[in-house]
Amino acid sequence: MTDFSKQYEVRKIYENTYSIKEEGFEGLDAYMYLFVGEEKALLFDCGFGIIDLKKIIGEITDKPLMCICSHGHHDHIMGVCQLDDCYIHSIDKDVFLLNTCEPVLRMFVMNNTLTVHKNSEGFDEFAEEWVSKDYPLPKFIDGTTCIDLGGREIKLRLIPGHTQGSLALYDEKYGAAFDSDGASRGVWIHLVESTSLSEYIEMLEEYIAVLEERGITKRFVAHNGKEHTVDELKNLLSCCRYARENPDAGEEFRNPYNKARIVRYDGSAVIYNVEKI
Ligand SMILES: [Zn+2]
Ligand SMILES: [Zn+2]
Repeated sequence: MTDFSKQYEVRKIYENTYSIKEEGFEGLDAYMYLFVGEEKALLFDCGFGIIDLKKIIGEITDKPLMCICSHGHHDHIMGVCQLDDCYIHSIDKDVFLLNTCEPVLRMFVMNNTLTVHKNSEGFDEFAEEWVSKDYPLPKFIDGTTCIDLGGREIKLRLIPGHTQGSLALYDEKYGAAFDSDGASRGVWIHLVESTSLSEYIEMLEEYIAVLEERGITKRFVAHNGKEHTVDELKNLLSCCRYARENPDAGEEFRNPYNKARIVRYDGSAVIYNVEKI
């Protein structure tokens, strides 16, 4: 029988900071990030909950661990079933509850999630356990919190768009920001839980200004392990502005929720709800 818990990869991205890649759905892997301080460790996002997070992190550090979920989507939160000290923004509470309820998880298994594992031996038993497990609601944290890990501080910021309660982290000491799904090169803001395109544009303008002010030069996101730049975020902003100014740009994006369009521009892409400009 396939051991799904072994399908991960750990990489040091810079001093005392690691990415943990968990293989997940349609080749779109979930990347979590681990920050180790002198006294504590922090995990940003906890993936599909398939890999053995305590064991993997235990091989890197034995410091007390807290976990912050960037938002309530299932590919970022399901490791809460393994961890003791987890947090999420209260705005994303309902998104979390929906994404961890059994009927919705069954739909994920039927549709795209975990496709990479589907032909593996023992998949059905594994999926049955995955959908029926208890995923406890994390404690709440807000976007103004600063976390002192000992010798390094990690700051949170609310970046509404993809979901209303999406959080980003900055690691000012090393000039890095972690945006998860909130500001990746191809961003989804057509979801029921997303903001309007205009609110997203406003958020990006402020976010870019803050990153530049704080000397952030590198960025990391949730579905690829590459190092990104602040300039790429400016390209995303241009893409969103272009979409707003040109309602016929791009093409229709079929989805079960609403009328959406996908617009590609300047190396970025945005999927937005045409009724929420
Ligand atoms: Zn998401
Ligand atoms: Zn995601």
